[in-house]
Amino acid sequence: METQEKILQTYFGYEHFRPGQQDVITYMMQHHNTLAVMPTGGGKSICYQIPGLSMDGTAMIISPLISLMKDQVDALQALGIAATYINSSLSVDELKKRMHDIAIGRYRFVYAAPERFETASFLHVIKRLDISLIAFDEAHCISQWGHDFRPSYRSIVPELKKLRNVRVFAALTATATEAVISDIQRLLHISDEHVVNTGFARENLAFHVIKGRDKTSYIRAYMSEHSDESGIIYAATRKQVDSLYENLKKQGYSVAKYHAGLSEEERKNAQSAFIHDERTVMIATNAFGMGIDKSNVRHVIHYAMPMNIESYYQEAGRAGRDGEMSNCILLFSPQDTQLQKFFIEQSQMDDDSKQQEYRKLQAMINYCHTHQCLANYILDYFNDPSPKPACKQCSNCSKNHEKVDITEEAQMILSCVKRMGEQFGVTMTAKVLKGSKDKKVAGFQFQKLSTFGIMSAYTEKELIERIHFLIAEKFLSMEEGKYPKVRLNANSVDVLKGKQEVMMLQAPIPIYAEEADYDAGLFTQLRQLRKNLADEQNVPPLC
Ligand code: ADP
Ligand code: MG
Ligand code: ZN
Repeated sequence: METQEKILQTYFGYEHFRPGQQDVITYMMQHHNTLAVMPTGGGKSICYQIPGLSMDGTAMIISPLISLMKDQVDALQALGIAATYINSSLSVDELKKRMHDIAIGRYRFVYAAPERFETASFLHVIKRLDISLIAFDEAHCISQWGHDFRPSYRSIVPELKKLRNVRVFAALTATATEAVISDIQRLLHISDEHVVNTGFARENLAFHVIKGRDKTSYIRAYMSEHSDESGIIYAATRKQVDSLYENLKKQGYSVAKYHAGLSEEERKNAQSAFIHDERTVMIATNAFGMGIDKSNVRHVIHYAMPMNIESYYQEAGRAGRDGEMSNCILLFSPQDTQLQKFFIEQSQMDDDSKQQEYRKLQAMINYCHTHQCLANYILDYFNDPSPKPACKQCSNCSKNHEKVDITEEAQMILSCVKRMGEQFGVTMTAKVLKGSKDKKVAGFQFQKLSTFGIMSAYTEKELIERIHFLIAEKFLSMEEGKYPKVRLNANSVDVLKGKQEVMMLQAPIPIYAEEADYDAGLFTQLRQLRKNLADEQNVPPLC
């Protein structure tokens, strides 16, 4: 193994391997197909670059983005290593020249998009080449279960697996759920012992969920205190990007913007200004960021909730690649859920895939309502194998929140769900608890239920929040779909029978919260309600 460390030192100038790197390299050197699952910034490139340098022949890297290929090739060339890329940005002459040089084995590393491997001329060349390895970078693109499925990533696999002149395959990704991992393994014939999963924990990231605040003024308050720190603000639509950009620019902040509605030239300039610290903050849709290796991003703020945890963790994970403490802040509003549902509904996916997306969206919504440690919530979602103490720095852990017992409040909500026949969503349930005069509520004759108006002291918004909390903590279930229904589960039964108590953090105090954001009277009202409930002995008997 000494030679590997030597290559690390002499070529790359690093003293030691990071977790997992050496295992991946060793397996590949023994010609075992290998999957590396490491967090963003974990150092996946070196995992195939060192084997590529240690073996004879050319290493082929499948990469999803032109910018990504170019960065990697520039970096290798700077180290004096013969590397090139093939993509549509090249002139015909340049392409010809590079293809010729590839064919005579001039390069140690060749980067290309998956679509290139579907062209006859490219296949013709690589079939005759001595190939050390084929690496699928951003390998989650192979899987329909991943968040960036790219059909060509998958369709080229059978053809490439047939090649006799390839020593070993590698797959590398930062975001892989169990389904994605086993999909990649099956496709590329990677056995369990050659999956190197270092876990996803990024200890230098502090996660925050902020609710019930005006988003733009929150961002302005945050920026006023962090004006010289590099950051990314992700918005859900081009319109949001444009208006936020104008707003912050008017305030005199150094901002750039990026979305698919801008010309290639505009996008290129914006990206370059951000990368080179000429502009401090990038405001963008999710079109921005894949393959961006900017180490000093101190905060990633989501102006709206993304579609799933995979996307969120990948986007938020662009903060703190240098290992310094950084903030990942998600600004949540209920409209975000509606917008993401709309995106799923009008997409071209088949019904099964849509159902899957709704499920993932629900996990994202739960993230915004859970009172667990946010970092651990994400790690659990990915079934992270490493043990996890609470992070002490997320918005649920950091402040000294007191926990309050809301068991009776939960019982009122759960019994209302039961009485409504488990056929309705969060909003309708909240309306019934509130005793709303809404026509729809009257239409279903809900005013006859004994739980009608049982929590009228709360605002509808507070009730919605409580119900989401119960769902996030699994005291209630959600039947996913376009019109999700709230359902009781085994935990609900335990709560209703008094076998299980429900504890909630006092309203988490977001960074930059004002006192006025909190309804101090709420807990007094709650106490009164509990008393009423106890008097009425209203909890229904259950199965
Ligand atoms: P990933 O692809 O996993 O997101 P990269 O391969 O782009 O990460 O590596 C992220 C950064 O870490 C790069 O700047 C890289 O040079 C650096 N790096 C990789 N391995 C090591 C190491 N063993 N020691 C120090 N720095 C490393
Ligand atoms: Mg990478
Ligand atoms: Zn935490």
